[in-house]
Amino acid sequence: MYDFEYQRAISVDDALKKYADSEDARFLAGGMTLVPVLKQRLDQPSNVVDLGDLADMRGISQEGNAIIIKAMTTHHAVNSSELVISKIPALAHLAGTIGDHMVRNRGTIGGSLANSDPAASYPSAVLALNATIITNNREIAADDFFTGMFDTALEEGELILSVSFPIPEEAGYKHFPNPASRYPIVGSFVAKTSNGVRVAITGAGPCAFRVDDFEDALTKKYNPEAIRDIKVSDEGLATDIHASAEYRAHLINVMTRRAIGE
Ligand SMILES: Cc1cc2nc3c(=O)[nH]c(=O)nc-3n(C[C@H](O)[C@H](O)[C@H](O)COP(=O)(O)OP(=O)(O)OC[C@H]3O[C@@H](n4cnc5c(N)ncnc54)[C@H](O)[C@@H]3O)c2cc1C
Repeated sequence: MYDFEYQRAISVDDALKKYADSEDARFLAGGMTLVPVLKQRLDQPSNVVDLGDLADMRGISQEGNAIIIKAMTTHHAVNSSELVISKIPALAHLAGTIGDHMVRNRGTIGGSLANSDPAASYPSAVLALNATIITNNREIAADDFFTGMFDTALEEGELILSVSFPIPEEAGYKHFPNPASRYPIVGSFVAKTSNGVRVAITGAGPCAFRVDDFEDALTKKYNPEAIRDIKVSDEGLATDIHASAEYRAHLINVMTRRAIGE
C-alpha cells in the first residue's frame, strides 16, 4: 500500500470539499473493492475520504411508486429490508446473493455502482428496473450510467447519494455464481412494468447490458417459453478461465428464463 492521507467526512458537503481540496482523492464506502486495490498498489490516491460516518447517506424509503436506497446502504440492509422485500423482492434477493456475510455487511450499493465491475450484481437490477442514480449534482438514467468496464458516467469527484427504483409489477433475478467468489458468471434481472419488459445482464460483457430481442418477445408474452429459441450472439462477451463467451451466451438465455420463473 502506498502512503495516502486518510480523512473522515462529517457531512456530504465536507466529503465533497475534502475531495475537491485534494490532489487526487478517492471516496471510501465499504472498502470491499477499494482497500484490496490499494493493498495491491493498483491505485495511488493522495487522499482517501471515508464516508462511513455519514448516517444521512444510509437508509431505504418509499417515495410514490419508487423505492429510494441511499448510497451507503449495505447489501445486507437491502437484503433484509421489509420494504424492499415487500415491494421489489427480486432486488432484496439479489442483494443476498452478493459475496459472503462480510462483503454484504460492509459493501454498499453506491460503491458497487461507482465501481461498475463487469460482474457486479446490482447493475443488472438498476438497468432492468430503469432506476435513476442521484448524485450531488444531477440525476442519471440507468441507460446512461454504465459506460464500460469499471467505467461510469460519473464525473471526477461526483458522489452518488441514492438510487431510485420504480416498483415493477413483477421482477426476478437469477445468476450462475462463480463457485469461489460468488460473483455472477452471468446474472439476469427481468422486470415487468406497464411499459413493457426490461431484461439486463451482468457478468457476461464489459458492463451490464440489455437484451432487446428478449424484451420484445417478453413484452408480447411474459413467459420463459417466449425466449427459449432466441439465440444471443457471443460477440463481445467475455472469455476467461471460468467460462467461454459461447457458454456465457448460452447462460444468458438459461438465467433469463429462470429469472422469469422466480
Ligand atoms: C470476496 C468478494 C466477493 C464479492 N462478490 C460480489 C458479488 O457476488 N456481486 C457483487 O456485485 N459484488 C461483489 N463484491 C463487491 C462488493 O459488492 C463491494 O461492495 C463493491 O464492489 C464495492 O462497494 P464498497 O461499498 O465496498 O465500495 P468501496 O470499495 O469503498 O469503493 C469502490 C469504488 O467506488 C467509489 N465509491 C464508493 N462509494 C461511492 C459513492 N457513493 N459515490 C461515488 N463513488 C463511490 C470508491 O471511490 C471506489 O472507487 C465482492 C467483493 C469481495 C471482496
